[in-house]
Amino acid sequence: MNLDSAIHVFVCGNPALDFAATLRARRTVRFEMFARPDRLSAWYVESGVVDAVSPAQEADVEQAKTVREAIYQLVTARRLGEDYDGSALTVVNNAARRPPAVPQLTPAGRWTQATPEEALSMVARHAVELLSGPDVPLLKECGNPECTRTYIDRSRGMRRQWCGMESCGNKIKAAAYRARRKTAPAAAH
Ligand SMILES: [Zn+2]
Repeated sequence: MNLDSAIHVFVCGNPALDFAATLRARRTVRFEMFARPDRLSAWYVESGVVDAVSPAQEADVEQAKTVREAIYQLVTARRLGEDYDGSALTVVNNAARRPPAVPQLTPAGRWTQATPEEALSMVARHAVELLSGPDVPLLKECGNPECTRTYIDRSRGMRRQWCGMESCGNKIKAAAYRARRKTAPAAAH
């Protein structure tokens, strides 16, 4: 896993899935993208969930991580066809119940200014919509076993194997190529 890739990326097809993927490589190194409050604030804006957010505090990060882990549990349960965990449901529903930020019309277009709590509510509402909507059968985990991102596979025949070619596809293909070279019989003299 390339740990210098600490920039936020949005490849999953839904903000709730991208949010769940901010704990990277869950089965191995568990790399935390919300290492500082400003990284959380940056995510809210870069994801397009809001246009601006008031500065997040440590408590906001803790709250966001709790909701994120609950979203991940619910998404994984849906993907595997398992029952929801009751406490994860409560965490996501409680976050979604908080008021979201209200978009305002300005001469320059729409502008949504949020507090971290309002932004988190909006992410939780995305999770509610996603998990009760038509994209559930399209949920897929990235084919790179280290990655643990879940994305919506909208490709024809659901053939998409990776969250992204750059992040995972090329890496896995290169590793497979090296493995084949290693096990290939030595060239004849
Ligand atoms: Zn991946």
